[in-house]
Amino acid sequence: QIPWSSTSSIPEQYYHPNPAVNATRRANATILMLARNSDTDNAVRSVRELEDKFNKNFQYPWVFLNEEPFSEEFKRRVSNVISGPVEFGLIPHDHWFQPDWIDEAKATAGREKMVQDRIIYGGSVSYRNMCRFNSGFFYRHSLLQKYKWYWRVEPDVHFHCDIEFDPFLYMEDNDKVYSFTITMYEYYATIPTLWDTVKKFTDMYPQFVSSDNSMGYLSDNGGETYNLCHFWSNFEIASMDFWRSEAYTKFFNFLDEAGGFYYERWGDAPVHSIGAGLFARKDQIHFWDNIGYEHNPYTHCPRGSGNWEKGKCACDPKRSFDFDGYSCMRQWERISPFQG
Ligand code: GDP
Ligand code: MN
Repeated sequence: QIPWSSTSSIPEQYYHPNPAVNATRRANATILMLARNSDTDNAVRSVRELEDKFNKNFQYPWVFLNEEPFSEEFKRRVSNVISGPVEFGLIPHDHWFQPDWIDEAKATAGREKMVQDRIIYGGSVSYRNMCRFNSGFFYRHSLLQKYKWYWRVEPDVHFHCDIEFDPFLYMEDNDKVYSFTITMYEYYATIPTLWDTVKKFTDMYPQFVSSDNSMGYLSDNGGETYNLCHFWSNFEIASMDFWRSEAYTKFFNFLDEAGGFYYERWGDAPVHSIGAGLFARKDQIHFWDNIGYEHNPYTHCPRGSGNWEKGKCACDPKRSFDFDGYSCMRQWERISPFQG
């Protein structure tokens, strides 16, 4: 695709070709959004914002996935705000829907209890499908096979600063596998048996656990119990090769067979966080202070010296979630001291 339209009414010479677009080095990366057709308005807004703040200078390809075919309207409106390549994919049935071997009576009972206990999305099967898909399937989709890196974006999120650097290349050069902007506690009621299942797995496969892991972030007592801290996965820039590894593949399959995605409501955020936290070295997980990011109701706003000014950020640094009592930034900084 050509970056600048030659059919524009403004002559070509007034457009400044951006050197980044012709850069010699690019990462093998895509920007990924899972969305429904009903998300169209919010999807377009997120895409437009990330294009403005980042991707207009880089033109990484976008991939959109849905378990139903995208409407012509969705495709037309999203394509209209993207200048580079874009693909729309259908999720295979078996990657999305509840497997046959799940005991439906047990799953129904689990949902009913969560509805009574007023747990968010407690009664939703589609939300559980989504969490399971994001935990263990998206990186197997045929459209994603050609890529190593992805940046997960959701409808209705906001980017408050200019992002004038290439986060994928930064990660590649610094041997990172996972990165985040916001960390917080999970609702215990959604994952009551997750940690015991994780412990069973690591007892069986101790060889997969990194000797320099992030247990000091995930647990306050050396791994006996989970402190519920996780990276908020609606934003992720990460390596799909890490999820495709033997360690994470066996880990996901083990969790899946336990059935907690349906009997409870295991989220992809704690599953990814525990996977990255145990199988990667702690220095392979990166916190982006300089990416101002908002997903309702929380915002991360840069606090490191000069980051807010450099990014021309619109967010209020005083109200950054980093300082919230519900943030797990304290736990993260126990093992990875802040570098502003
Ligand atoms: P929350 O952030 O946990 O409140 O969950 P969201 O409703 O934002 O869903 C997370 C992501 O999954 C978003 O990108 C949604 O667009 C997407 N999503 C959620 N449910 C479905 C679904 O049933 N089908 C599809 N295709 N996408 C979904
Ligand atoms: Mn969301």
